[in-house]
Amino acid sequence: MSAGLRDAAASERRAPRIGMLGGTFDPVHLGHLRSAVELHEALALDRLHMIPAPQPPLRGRPQVPAKARLALLEAGIGDTPGLYADGRELSRTGPSYSADTLAELRAEYGPEARLVMALGQDAFARLADWHAPERLFALAHIVVVARPGYAPADSPRLRELIGTREVADPETLMQSPGGGLLRVTLPSRMAISATDIRHRLQHGQSVRYLLPEAVERAAVIRRLYQPSAAPSDDRTG
Ligand code: ATP
Repeated sequence: MSAGLRDAAASERRAPRIGMLGGTFDPVHLGHLRSAVELHEALALDRLHMIPAPQPPLRGRPQVPAKARLALLEAGIGDTPGLYADGRELSRTGPSYSADTLAELRAEYGPEARLVMALGQDAFARLADWHAPERLFALAHIVVVARPGYAPADSPRLRELIGTREVADPETLMQSPGGGLLRVTLPSRMAISATDIRHRLQHGQSVRYLLPEAVERAAVIRRLYQPSAAPSDDRTG
């Protein structure tokens, strides 16, 4: 834990509250960033790590190399307080498992830290298919963010995984370091997806106000989502 965070947490006599929002971020958009800001506020987090996956295990190869997606994320976050573009998964070989990332964060922030893995409803619906899903709860809380257009019922396997973990509010969740589940509906739900943005960029349509201007500029200047832009190796990109 950094000295600044330790001081902040110590002065309030509470354990640090750390969030992780993993994703492909291909590219990062305002749905991600506004959710991150509102989650940071709703859970009174000290820091939210936004972590691009080089190759998410359950989906096809991202269109743009991980290094470039991280650079877009850094541009999108800019100086937003509390949000941190975290490139730790880029140096990993093989698939990037969230449980491994949470284990690293747990080791860094200590056993008392309130550690939260945030994810959208669409990603949560597939949680039972993830690598070692029980391990996620052993390491952290899970917070599910409502996303317009996605309201799948929990599958039987997901219900089994959730068991009695669900709590009703952030303060109950924050009474323990991990192991709980909270569903939140944040104020500015945004029906923005990276799939739609990639499609728009490939067809020469406007993406204005769907992603930060700095991200739009960088993506356009670097011609990252042009129809001819072939995906290249994530770790060398
Ligand atoms: P794609 O369309 O390529 O699947 P995406 O827009 O869903 O991309 P990801 O990088 O896959 O973006 O998402 C990372 C995390 O952010 C996931 O947990 C996802 O559910 C969540 N998320 C993405 N967009 C939103 C949004 N508009 N509102 C809330 N959560 C979101």
